[in-house]
Parts: sequence; structure tokens; C-alpha cells
Amino acid sequence: MRIAYLDRTVHETDGEPKPNGDVSAISKSIDLQGSVETGDKTTIASKDFGGLYSIKPLALIKPAGSGDISRVIKAASRIPRMTVAARGNGHSINGQAMTNGGLVIDMRSTEENHFRLLNINGSFFIDVSGGALWENVLTRCVSRFGLAPRSWTDYLSLTVGGTLSNAGVSGQAFRYGPQISNVTELEIVTGKGDITVCSETRNPELFFGSLGGLGQFGIITRARVKLQPAPDMVRWIRVVYTEFDEFTRDAEFLVSRDDGESFDYVEGFVFCNNDDPVNGWPAVPLDPVHGFNPGIIPQTGASVLYCLEVAFHYQKGDHPSSVDKAVAGLLKRLRFVEGLKSQVDLSYVEFLLRVKRAEEQAKANGIWDAPHPWLNLFISKSNIVDFDQTVFKKMVKDGIGGPMLIYPLMRSKWDNRTSVALPDSEIFYLVALLRFVSRGPSVEESVAQNREIVEWCIKEGLDFKLYLPHYQSKEGWKRHFGDQWTRFVERKASFDPMAILAPGQNIFKRTHLS
Ligand code: FAD
Repeated sequence: MRIAYLDRTVHETDGEPKPNGDVSAISKSIDLQGSVETGDKTTIASKDFGGLYSIKPLALIKPAGSGDISRVIKAASRIPRMTVAARGNGHSINGQAMTNGGLVIDMRSTEENHFRLLNINGSFFIDVSGGALWENVLTRCVSRFGLAPRSWTDYLSLTVGGTLSNAGVSGQAFRYGPQISNVTELEIVTGKGDITVCSETRNPELFFGSLGGLGQFGIITRARVKLQPAPDMVRWIRVVYTEFDEFTRDAEFLVSRDDGESFDYVEGFVFCNNDDPVNGWPAVPLDPVHGFNPGIIPQTGASVLYCLEVAFHYQKGDHPSSVDKAVAGLLKRLRFVEGLKSQVDLSYVEFLLRVKRAEEQAKANGIWDAPHPWLNLFISKSNIVDFDQTVFKKMVKDGIGGPMLIYPLMRSKWDNRTSVALPDSEIFYLVALLRFVSRGPSVEESVAQNREIVEWCIKEGLDFKLYLPHYQSKEGWKRHFGDQWTRFVERKASFDPMAILAPGQNIFKRTHLS
């Protein structure tokens, strides 16, 4: 079923004849070690965090491991029109982990299958399940080994397979690249049902195809993730700018500096120059006791202002004055509005779990479960001033009912061999409009505004890509992948000739590959 307020949705999946699958016969024939849910018990798989689509699967499979997944895929390939989608933690926005009348594989049931520390030539790695939550990877790695992955997402109740299928970016990516630049080996059950181990040197087409591959090459059952010593503490700092060019100049200065000569995390966001509790000044202070003093904002301040958010890692044993000195040395190079600075010190784990605390509050206020028509873009440095002038300063100047993130990333930290489509320039920005509709424009208005922004980017010829992409037409996907289109389709066809891994995105149907 399509939710009524969205008219450009999954027409083709809706109208399609459903496969003739008899679930109990399938599970008996393949001797499943895990379990199969049908009827009302599949409800969780018919929705996602976006809350924009409702798409009912035939069954929800809870596999015991790779063997089950392989057998399910092989059985599905024998049933005409049957589709299979992997579901991580269902935090997509546009139904990416859903399939209409098909089989959804719930990867969370495999969380415990892998957790092994490896020391390879003096470097540490952790083998984890594709269905593991990053927050569990974090807490287990830090508490058991004092080690941690290097690159994160802001929010960690996401699965390893779910973020590796997209990219996985946060404020550490300028230094270490996205999460997909921080894995060295994957185990994948391909669209043929083969259980395959791949890396840069072993089945490299499958390895690079799957990284950022939108779940289209197979199901990631294990990932080998690079680790580094975990710091004990983080100083988390926010500073405010009135001028966009000063904000971007400082952010780009920080992300371009060598390791050891910058902060360990760099992000930023846009907020309204008013006292709105969600969109305005109150969204900025990290330390609510000291608040935000709007009297300091220069008269030149426009309708929106900019906040640079940085973090500095240190150890408990470090002398406080040495931490103060190092942080002050970095801050003195920046041109933020003097007096508009806020900071807190917290443990490294608490810092990485900061959005979980926000989630707990949002759940308590009843806003977490409302629809989230989010828009995520990568925009070239050469177009970011235009984007600010038109989108931030005009289209969304009154706020969106949630954070409007903007921070620079370095293309050289990404691997061109993966499936992710990026803008051309070395520095490009992640822009994320994270809408909570219960506090901002309605779903219809939000969806229309997102569409208007994307259409404006296309009309103006901006060098940009959607992050966490979703298109309803082959033309949309071809434009998205550009020069990489042929490689993506050929790679996919070689690992998934039946094209059965179809997460509600019509470009990935068999017909488009023929
Ligand atoms: P799902 O939504 O379940 O699946 C996503 C896609 O991956 C689907 O296509 C699915 O079929 C496929 N998939 C899932 N598991 C596997 C697997 N094991 N093998 C192969 N394919 C698989 N992203 C960032 O990069 N940075 C952020 O800071 C960030 N913050 C977020 C904060 C919130 C509150 C939310 C809701 C999302 C955020 N995201 C962020 C986006 C997030 O990374 C993606 O939506 C991600 O796909 C969600 O992971 P999931 O485990 O819920 O995957």
C-alpha cells in the first residue's frame, strides 16, 4: 500500500503481479535454521524510519547465518518474480530495505555471528556481522580492547551492512574517509546465492561494487573493520558564524590540515537567527547552563547563521592545561563570532552515542516516530555558495523542524572503485535536511520542498549527487551514476544475473538489465 500523500512513489512495484510464493513450502524445502514470520509479524518490515511508504512483504526471514541466506536466495530465484531485500535496522527514508510481496531478510538476527579481533602485521581489525549495530560494535570494542573503528555515522543504531551499502559519513570522514574506506574484507551472499569472501585483491569487483552498492550486489554477512586506539575523552565545541564564506573557509581549513594539526571531528549546521526553540538559537549551546547570548550577534547577521562543530580527542592522563593549550591553538586560527562558543567534555563513547541521547528525548516527546522526509546531498565546493544563497537563505530560511547539517569532505579519502557516486571536486559538502514533521512543515510541504531543491540543483547545473539515493526512473539512476552507470549495471549483472535483490527501487528489476 502506498501512503496517500505521496503521488510519485512505487507505482511499478504496487502494480506488479505478486509472485506465487508459498512461504511454508519455501522454508521446508530449504531446511531453514532460522525462522520465518508472516502476516502481522511482518509489519516491522513494511515500514522504515522515513515513514513515507508502507510496502508489505510476503514474509520476514530471520536467518541463523550465511547458509540460511544463501538457501533463501537460491530458492527465491526459482520462483518467478520473487524479490529479496536485506533489512538492516530499517533506518532508510524511502523504502530502500522493503520489497512488495517479496522476502525481507532481517539481518539483525545475525548480530552475534561474528565478533573477532585480528592483529594483522601489527594493525588491529574487528570482524563483525553485517547485521550488527554500530553502537554495539563501539561499546564492545572499547570495553574489551580499548580500540575503536576510525570512521562513524552521527547516529549508531544503524547496521554495519546498512551503512556500508551507502557510505557511512560523519565528522571523522575528512581524515579517514567514509566507513566504506575503512573495511578491508567482506563476506557476501551474492544474488546467485554464493557465499563469497572478497577484498581489494580477492574478488575485487564484488568488494568494491558492494561498498556503496545500495544492497544490489548481495547481502553483506561479515565485514572486517579497521581499528585504532580509542581515546578516553572528547572536548566537543561549537562556534557560531554570521558569514557563510567565513564558516566555509574555516571548515575547509580544518579538513585540509594534516593529522595532528587539526580537530578530530569537523561538522557544521545552519540555524535560524531567531529564538525558535527547535530551529533557532536554542539549538546551539552544548552547555544549556550558559545558553546563547543573541546580543553578541553582529548586525550583519542574516536570516540564518552557521555553527561549526568540532571535537578534540584526549586521554584522561593528559594534563588539563595541555588540552586547553592545544584546543586554544586551533581555535585561534578560526574567525567565529567572539563570545559565541560553547563546549563540554565527555567520554569518547558518550560523544559517539550523542544522537542516541537525542533519540531518547525525541521518543519521550513523541516526535521520533513521526514521518521523516529527509534529504541528503553531496554538493561540490564550487556550488556551495549558490546553494547557501538560494536554499539556506531563501527556501528553508524559516527552518525545517530539525537539523540542517553542512560540512566538507575530501574526495581523495574516498575510493573511486566503490559504487558511490560523488561530485567531481576534491572538496565537497554533505548537506542533510533532517526534517521532523511534527515540529516543522507538513509531510506534503516537506516532500514538495525537497523536490523543489533537487530540481533547482538540476536546473542550475550544480555538481551534486543525492546521498542515500532513491529514484523512480531509469533516467534518474542514469543521471545519478553518470559515467559509472555502465560499470554499476555490468557489475550487478555479473553477481546477480536474476536481479532478485530488489529493495522497492524499480531500476533494479530484471527488465532493466536485459
Ligand atoms: P536499512 O535501512 O535497513 O537498509 C539500507 C539499505 O541497505 C537497503 O538498500 C538494504 O537493502 C541494504 N542493506 C541492509 N543491510 C544489508 C546487508 N547486510 N547487506 C547488503 N545490503 C544491506 N548516514 C550516514 O552516512 N551518516 C550519518 O550520520 C547518518 N545518520 C543517520 C541518523 C539517523 C537518525 C538515521 C535514521 C539515518 C542516518 N544515516 C546516516 C543514514 C543511514 O546510514 C542509512 O539510512 C542506512 O542505510 C541505515 O542503516 P540500516 O541498518 O537501518 O539499513
